[in-house]
Amino acid sequence: MRYTYEEVALSTEAKKMRDILVDYIGVVSHRLPDDIAMKIKELGKIEIDPLQQLVYATMRENQMLAEDLDRPSCQDTGALQFFIKVGTNFPLINELNVILKEAVYLATKSIPLRHNAVETFDEYNTGLNIGTGLPTIYTELEQDSDTIELYVYMAGGGCTLPGAAKVLMPGEGYEGVVRFVMDQMTSYGINACPPLLVGIGVATSVETAAMNSKFALMRRAESISPNENAAKMEGLLEEGINNIGLGPQGFGGQKSVMGVNIINTARHPSTIGVALNTGCWSHRRGKIIFDNNLNYELPLHEGVSL
Ligand code: SF4
Repeated sequence: MRYTYEEVALSTEAKKMRDILVDYIGVVSHRLPDDIAMKIKELGKIEIDPLQQLVYATMRENQMLAEDLDRPSCQDTGALQFFIKVGTNFPLINELNVILKEAVYLATKSIPLRHNAVETFDEYNTGLNIGTGLPTIYTELEQDSDTIELYVYMAGGGCTLPGAAKVLMPGEGYEGVVRFVMDQMTSYGINACPPLLVGIGVATSVETAAMNSKFALMRRAESISPNENAAKMEGLLEEGINNIGLGPQGFGGQKSVMGVNIINTARHPSTIGVALNTGCWSHRRGKIIFDNNLNYELPLHEGVSL
């Protein structure tokens, strides 16, 4: 049976939120978040060889044209993922899943977005950018709050490819974490259109570490872990991955990463779960915060209004 979708009757307020999200998905697909745009500028100044300078100049021109012409910043507009912290008193909490699904469905038609939803095992593209379990929606509840914070992420194919997770024997220690990350980055980092934002999760199991590594990609590129030891590892890994010499778009160069972000949570004493996710130079993630009247802020896209 083929996947089909019929629009669901939503309340007036839910439609308002959905339509704001449709517009914001358009912004995210056309305009890099401020931290990534800044990093691309910074890294472009560090490279001195003409080839690398040309790659950065092309990235900046691509970005300018995407904004001016209202076109996606990369042809791969990704699989849509939402990471949400929602107050238990947020008035539209009951309609949230439908709001998000419809926002992707409508954005796909109006922006437009490339069709990236393939039903697994049945192996056909729904042509809608939604499908079984897509968009991906991760929700955290916040007690006694009536607001919602929502990350929108366009997970491209290339930048998703280096992703991996593993549970290490406890004796492998944090050296094992570093070995895992460096093995992945030397083998697959090139797939993801460098310079990369590298997200690392450390926790108990594959899925908890994997979630942490994805959340790490939601942190700003220049951010530093509040945990002193994790922050030290971020710095060391950044240096190590830069030394691989991938450079912009894999043409070699001084810098391979925009940043390394680690998110760690407590673990079982007998395991060290570690996971890695990468974001490419066109790291299209946005953040929108709504209050209970649907007034919103866009902290990663300064100066944009919808
Ligand atoms: S890795 Fe990023 S920039 Fe490269 S094709 Fe995929 S989405 Fe586009």
